[in-house]
Amino acid sequence: MKFWFAKYELQPVVPFNGTQAKPRHGALLQVEWPDGIGYADCHPWPEFGDEPIDSQLKLLKRAKLTPLTEQSIWLAKRDADLRSENKSAFEKFSPLKNHYLITDIEIIGETLLKHIQSQKFQTLKIKVGRQPEKEVEWLNALGARWPFQFRLDFNSQLDYLSFEGFIKKLTVETQRKIEFVEDPFPFSVDTWLESNNLLRLAIDKEEGNAALDSLTEVPFSVMMIKPATQDVDRMSTFCRRKNLKFAVTSNLDHPLGQAHAAWVAGELKRRLPTQILDCGVLSHVAFEPNPFSEQIKSDGPFFVGVEGTGVGFDDLLDRVDWKELKTL
Ligand code: MG
Repeated sequence: MKFWFAKYELQPVVPFNGTQAKPRHGALLQVEWPDGIGYADCHPWPEFGDEPIDSQLKLLKRAKLTPLTEQSIWLAKRDADLRSENKSAFEKFSPLKNHYLITDIEIIGETLLKHIQSQKFQTLKIKVGRQPEKEVEWLNALGARWPFQFRLDFNSQLDYLSFEGFIKKLTVETQRKIEFVEDPFPFSVDTWLESNNLLRLAIDKEEGNAALDSLTEVPFSVMMIKPATQDVDRMSTFCRRKNLKFAVTSNLDHPLGQAHAAWVAGELKRRLPTQILDCGVLSHVAFEPNPFSEQIKSDGPFFVGVEGTGVGFDDLLDRVDWKELKTL
């Protein structure tokens, strides 16, 4: 296996839940096997414990895989297999429905909400947990006036008691509109079981996933599957066995990563059609447009595809200035 990389920056349109709108760093990977070349993204979130991009690349050079680069290689191999057959990942793809991602409640105003509604999105995924008082007030106002359903993602920023307090302050009307709550506080079976009786919980972060196999009772109702960071077969098998709903999401990463996530989601939708919920792969709206994001075809909440072979973007990938990483 040979590796090339090309680092990139993505510029958030607005701050992500209170953090400054600083550029985010990742790298595209070009991976060569004897029988073909494939592409994937590597987009770490050091704020949530990932190695930064330079460490990811250094480790990869020394043949040490992280959860991210392990998935990048898996995704690149899928891409290489299709490219060598000159086929597109989106040939038999049926449009995939998604939520609308709101990374910071501060940006929400009448104009944006009207735009989201006119685009026929039904679900808003909202990053919350940084300023609970304000968020409760805002959610109640939103719940009273708009027909959206909500997915609240706390990124484990609360604890059990503050989460209970948060939910109790929501009006019944707003509570009814909550489809699920993602990672309200750090994973623990007992407190999650209790909260899951209050509102449907969704698990996203790896700390809970690590313990999946030892669970006798599943303390959540929904699983978020991120092909960029998680073993898709293991996660989807668990969902199938336990009859859990799931949503596939991007890693809020490069459009190439989004396309990979959409492709995986499309396959899972065919295999587990009654368990898949609206997904979260239309995340490029969180960043300033770039030539890659401009090639993503969407229609309102639907991800439609990308032109080209494999995961697409052929012309752009040809023009990338690749640097070789030592042979693995
Ligand atoms: Mg999450």
